[in-house]
Amino acid sequence: AYVIGSTCIDVKDGACQDVCPVESIYEGGRMMYIQPDECIDCGLCLSVCPVSAIYAQDELPEHERDFLRANAEFFGSS
Ligand code: SF4
Repeated sequence: AYVIGSTCIDVKDGACQDVCPVESIYEGGRMMYIQPDECIDCGLCLSVCPVSAIYAQDELPEHERDFLRANAEFFGSS
């Protein structure tokens, strides 16, 4: 799945939502979150994000690791 990281905070541009073919990107609090069970790994959102906040989960940099957990918590899984 894809994960949204820190640079989305207080930006929430929404370009990702417009291109996501399965509408798996949700707005919550100060940022957007990708529902991992719905994401089909197309990668479209990654290229349109104006603040480069989106990563493939296996390419998530160390300093963005907290967002993987925050994402899981947002959707109520672990
Ligand atoms: Fe949606 Fe594709 Fe981004 Fe997954 S990778 S959140 S399916 S646009």
